Amino acid sequence: MSNIVGIDLGTTYSVIASLDENGKPDIHSVDGERITPSFVEFTGKKKYLVGHEPRKAFEAASKAKKKNFAFDAKRHIRTLDGTTWEVFGEKHTPTSVSSLIIKYLKDSFEKANGSIDSAVITIPANFKDEARTATMIAAEKCGLKKLNLIDEPTAAMFSYALSSREKLNGNYVVYDLGGGTFDVSVCSIKGQDIKVLSSTGMDELGGRDFDQKLLEIIQKKFKEETGDELVYDPDGKSDIGMLAIENYKKSLSKRGTIDVSLSIKGKGIADFSVTRKEFEQAISLDIENTKGACEIALEDAKLAIKDIKDIILVGGSTYIPLVRQEVANFFNKEPLSIINPDEAVALGAAIYAGYKADPSLLNKKQKETVSNVSIQEITPHAFGTVVQMPIDESGLNTIPFNSIIIEKGEPRPIEMTREYETMHDNQTELRLTVTEANSNDDTDPEWVTIVWEGTMELPSGREKGRPLSHTFSYDENGMMHCIFKDDESGRTEEIDLEIERKEKDSGMDIDPDEFKVD
Ligand code: ADP
Ligand code: MG
Repeated sequence: MSNIVGIDLGTTYSVIASLDENGKPDIHSVDGERITPSFVEFTGKKKYLVGHEPRKAFEAASKAKKKNFAFDAKRHIRTLDGTTWEVFGEKHTPTSVSSLIIKYLKDSFEKANGSIDSAVITIPANFKDEARTATMIAAEKCGLKKLNLIDEPTAAMFSYALSSREKLNGNYVVYDLGGGTFDVSVCSIKGQDIKVLSSTGMDELGGRDFDQKLLEIIQKKFKEETGDELVYDPDGKSDIGMLAIENYKKSLSKRGTIDVSLSIKGKGIADFSVTRKEFEQAISLDIENTKGACEIALEDAKLAIKDIKDIILVGGSTYIPLVRQEVANFFNKEPLSIINPDEAVALGAAIYAGYKADPSLLNKKQKETVSNVSIQEITPHAFGTVVQMPIDESGLNTIPFNSIIIEKGEPRPIEMTREYETMHDNQTELRLTVTEANSNDDTDPEWVTIVWEGTMELPSGREKGRPLSHTFSYDENGMMHCIFKDDESGRTEEIDLEIERKEKDSGMDIDPDEFKVD
């Protein structure tokens, strides 16, 4: 049997699923659990652990030992904030930490099923080019081959499309509220085509914020009863751990009231209850804010609420009844239920992995599954290059201008060429840039990210106005390839952003293969 897997590499939890022999996507349990905290502990030189165990150990660890833990790697990949961890004399980056998480899931799967033949990793639809590349590198470095990326909302749609009894058709919203981030995407399905029309998100909103709010309620009640402070110190010793708080929160998704009984050494005993109502009040503003993002996603997709056929809830925090209720209020419609919203993305990725796999690897049943789906993804940002634009007749006075070559929202893969001219007589040098912008209107270079820069030498002695053509292509995994060309001399400068970044190694100082599970 061939092994085709999908991996949901989440900010707080990761999941690995495979397309089983009957063509059904199926979760592989790691250490007996279906979902694994994206939490790494370095237990010694080249030794590590991933998942529930380090997450528990973190709570009890002293301040000094807490430095041996790395988590939230995906959030740092997403915001590209330069975070690193120095542990046992080695520097770890969000990419290398992600690589170790993937390796852990991969090794667990392979131990049970034999080696993986092809894999798909999921990423948020609005991940920047550099974040996509970092994820790709993280996966490649731990030995996954035949690798593809898929946007999380698309994976969720796949999973829903396959489990739904009726054929999906129309515009759908994927509302994904996880542990650390919120993403909302508008997708369209026509026949077998799934397309992400727009996607937006909030980097700092999710279940962890709700844990914090519940902690505050519990702290207040503890103080009322005992007169003492219930201390929670993320960097040091605490009277109560976040795992306990998270479990209380999960209980409140199932029941209207929870009983909390705390006995803290030197501070006395407190018995009280917390109601779902109290918890909901505390998180209501956060939920309200997600509706603002839904409005933006609709606007970007140029659709109104009435155009939305159904809403698909994804992410563990959508187990919270208030979330469901508020989404229903906003869209004037009950959202659809995916049985396990925290597993849907991985299951969909497994289906996509089957779709991308060499057909000869698939058995008849698996082929049947993948023949039911197809996909059209779009460019999540606008890509262009900085040029000089004349601002008067003389042509001597210019301003820098971001000229967009690939627009945001184009179906991918895509290749676009734009024509330019040299600016000056005897111009012997051309400055080359690749820019990434959030909107097709971002023409001011101040507002865009320069993702690559270089220069090209031009032949001397020519008049100005020599033709140049720049071709950018963006492949199905969201990887960029650019060719800058001086048409007359035929000189070209070609860059593959993924390779460029790999050469810089995207900050991966470590080799994941040298790391052993403790
Ligand atoms: P990620 O954000 O990494 O993609 P998930 O989608 O699995 O992760 O979401 C994890 C979040 O969902 C965590 O904050 C977790 O506490 C929360 N969660 C999981 N189950 C429940 C539940 N039953 N009720 C409320 N929150 C839940
Ligand atoms: Mg997720």
